Amino acid sequence: MNTPFLSSSATPSVDVAVLGAGPVGAALALALVRHGLYTAVLDTRGPEEAQQDPRVLALSHGSRLLLERVEVWPLLREVAPIRVVHVSEQGTWPRVALTSAEAGVPVLGYTVEYGRLMAAFVERLRDAHALFYLPAVGEPWIRASREGVTVGLRHRDGAGALQARLLAVADGGATANRLGFEMASRDYHQCALTARVRADVAPSGVAYERFTPEGPVALLPCTNDYALIWTVGPERAAALAALAPEAFCAALQERFGHRLGCFRAVGHRAVFPLVQRRARDVVGARTVLLGNAAHTLHPVAGQGLNLGLRDAWELAEHLAQAPRDSIGDPAHLERYRRKRSLDVELGVAFTDTLVRLFSNANPLLRWGRTAALAGLGLLPPARRFLARRMIFGARAL
Ligand SMILES: Cc1cc2nc3c(=O)[nH]c(=O)nc-3n(C[C@H](O)[C@H](O)[C@H](O)COP(=O)(O)OP(=O)(O)OC[C@H]3O[C@@H](n4cnc5c(N)ncnc54)[C@H](O)[C@@H]3O)c2cc1C
Repeated sequence: MNTPFLSSSATPSVDVAVLGAGPVGAALALALVRHGLYTAVLDTRGPEEAQQDPRVLALSHGSRLLLERVEVWPLLREVAPIRVVHVSEQGTWPRVALTSAEAGVPVLGYTVEYGRLMAAFVERLRDAHALFYLPAVGEPWIRASREGVTVGLRHRDGAGALQARLLAVADGGATANRLGFEMASRDYHQCALTARVRADVAPSGVAYERFTPEGPVALLPCTNDYALIWTVGPERAAALAALAPEAFCAALQERFGHRLGCFRAVGHRAVFPLVQRRARDVVGARTVLLGNAAHTLHPVAGQGLNLGLRDAWELAEHLAQAPRDSIGDPAHLERYRRKRSLDVELGVAFTDTLVRLFSNANPLLRWGRTAALAGLGLLPPARRFLARRMIFGARAL
């Protein structure tokens, strides 16, 4: 860690200060230093804590390409490929398979534990040149003006401040309100219950997304077992989390069916409340929001981090094209906002529509869903379009 950087008497200056060293902030910082931009990234959570997060993430093939460019991909351990995504709805007959062959990519995506992803990022952040990775104790203070941004923080050796031309906020949504950004939010009144589960049928590169009236159930293939993301109401989530393992497996069996044989074991269960949050504008004075700080999505179809990594990559490319002294310039930031808006709009609309359409028992909607799934099953170009849209975002259009 580079706290001596902050111990000198003069306030050090960087091109970009990145608030939040989660996957999006870390990817941005690494992409910026690749372009020779002087960068500091700070986080209130220590690297060990970040590695405790129990989420398993589905990363698209497009995200793999971005992680390769920042040299994080080769450091990842225990990555499992997804070659087929199997989509169905409980109680109806259509079954749709999105395949890598049809999408024209070697693999649709991969599953990786959030903790392992963070371990790989931390390893790269620690040895990157011209990058200062700073652990903060407590909330940093921020002062943004037309000329630049000052960020002050306490760290384990004392306190310090740094100046930046631009503050990139990738803190998952912790400070956007405090910085004056207006946020719109929608409470889904749902929670995602996550756990690792073991079934009779071992994982073989197939991910399952099964829509049920209470919400989607996803089973993602990991190396030896499956990562479960089960969306239910808050009370049901608490009840499921408290069930004995055998009773939990039986409840899952009832929802998911017997496609994978019997569920035999379940590991640690965690519950995440689900809220969609969006900044009305991601650009402010010398400040830009990205990743979950700009848009927190429902986890259905695993879009959130993939969208955030595209924010990080495109922001770094955009800043690298500017003369150094126009980094953080309002007109230049505005062009970034416009470039990103289609991908973000489509990502938010896609996940939100899936949740509203499928978590609904209305018989007319049910008929429409059956027809839509049946149609998708019959139309290879539609499946290819959908798969590529999920892999590459708006660039696939
Ligand atoms: C159950 C579940 C399953 C999911 N599955 C998928 C999936 O399969 N695929 C997918 O693409 N997405 C998935 N997501 C979404 C994905 O987890 C997020 O989109 C992703 O973590 C966002 O990354 P981020 O770096 O923007 O934010 P975060 O991961 O939230 O990281 C934010 C960082 O900022 C730090 N921070 C917080 N406050 C401050 C502060 N004041 N100052 C400095 N630092 C601060 C935090 O310590 C943290 O390190 C899932 C989400 C959930 C809840």
